[in-house]
Amino acid sequence: MRIVLFGPPGAGKGTQGVRLAEKLNITHLATGDMLRAEVGAGSELGKLAKQYMDRGDLVPDEVIINMIKSRLGGGDGMLIDGFPRTLGQAEALDAALQEANKPLDKCVYFKVDQDELVKRLINRASEQGRSDDTPETISRRMDVYQQQTAPVLDYYRSSGRIVEIDGLGTPDEVFNRLILAVGGENKN
Ligand code: AMP
Repeated sequence: MRIVLFGPPGAGKGTQGVRLAEKLNITHLATGDMLRAEVGAGSELGKLAKQYMDRGDLVPDEVIINMIKSRLGGGDGMLIDGFPRTLGQAEALDAALQEANKPLDKCVYFKVDQDELVKRLINRASEQGRSDDTPETISRRMDVYQQQTAPVLDYYRSSGRIVEIDGLGTPDEVFNRLILAVGGENKN
């Protein structure tokens, strides 16, 4: 099974993605985690990406598309989190997966209202100390989501691949909805 987890920053994709990939025993590809690893390693890619990440902006398409393409070759099943975030990325992903004869099955959209998202991100800032969880970058990331990422939803909607889930509630509640949405069994 090949799935994209989609939603605004703070929607819970990261937490749920790790759990779901483990349960389905499929590869977990999270572009934000990959970029933070590059930043931590001090690589050229990391240095470039950090400038965008610290402002709350998106890393340019060609950089991020190359990065993810180099990881798509693994097993048949994969769960992608934090990508695509632009229409160009969504089209590039479809093209790469079609070429490999491994088309995307579903895009799960986590619905969470704006006030709750900001609350969660502020909370995460105090718990994890992510350098892009400051009030200024949180607000920038929300704008970037609305302007550049939200249109991707219509792209998947028009091809009938969107499944929506309510992202409010405890992590277990959301996980159970997620399992149902992807057609897995509903148990922990
Ligand atoms: P995340 O952990 O998914 O919230 O990503 C953290 C930051 O990494 C984002 O605010 C972007 O700067 C960058 N990033 C992650 N994924 C992408 C992507 N698909 N396209 C562009 N930038 C990305």
